[in-house]
Amino acid sequence: MNVLQRIFTWLLGPGVERESREWKYECSQCGHRESVWERGGIRYKASGEKSYRGRCPACGHVGKRWLRRSP
Ligand SMILES: [Zn+2]
Repeated sequence: MNVLQRIFTWLLGPGVERESREWKYECSQCGHRESVWERGGIRYKASGEKSYRGRCPACGHVGKRWLRRSP
């Protein structure tokens, strides 16, 4: 847990970690998924899907990565 995550958890409660773990980045190439929380981020009280450009840690593909909520 990093400082940012610690502060948000302290302010908003343990739901922050639970929700952030449900939001996952998904590689459009290999389907590798990792949660926002694992990446050191937070996502709370959000909805919808987003796409980002980034590098997949599993296959090295650089391109579109989906951010989806999947419990
Ligand atoms: Zn990948």
